[in-house]
Amino acid sequence: MPEMMLHYGFELDRAGFCKCPLHSEKSGSFKAYPGDRGFSCFGCGAHGSVIDFVMLYFGLSFKDALVKINDDFSLGLPIGEKLDRRKQLEMQRQSFMRKREMNARKAEKERLESDYWAAFDEWKRLDDNKRNYAPKTPEEPLHPLFVEALKNIVGAEYNLSCAEIARYEYEKRDSRNP
Ligand SMILES: [Zn+2]
Repeated sequence: MPEMMLHYGFELDRAGFCKCPLHSEKSGSFKAYPGDRGFSCFGCGAHGSVIDFVMLYFGLSFKDALVKINDDFSLGLPIGEKLDRRKQLEMQRQSFMRKREMNARKAEKERLESDYWAAFDEWKRLDDNKRNYAPKTPEEPLHPLFVEALKNIVGAEYNLSCAEIARYEYEKRDSRNP
């Protein structure tokens, strides 16, 4: 930490104190601890590691602070590789999310497909009954399946249309985001 303070132009007294770079003050309350033990300001309460100092003083993110320290002190740390690792993990996460989304879409497609065919089967059953159990003469009593078909076929047709529209809307959406 003292080396870093010198590098950025802050002179420390023998006890390792200087005026705080993070707040304005007349006397030095900023203590740079030996080695890499960081800093503490007894005036403004700021404290932390060398990385924290660079983040606070230069207003950098953690990542950018690492890059700056690496550059300023010619440390030659493989920060690039570490960032690549992060990138790699991020890409893995994105690919996982894409797969999950694709599976969700596949499941939705299957559900819509199965809803459609269920609606179709029901409509076909009622339509068959309506024709097969229709009275042949005006005197013939009405078959219960014929009555049921008459009662329910409009609803079944409606359900079938809805399922068809839902399936169509899905196809339209699906073709927009491949
Ligand atoms: Zn301070």
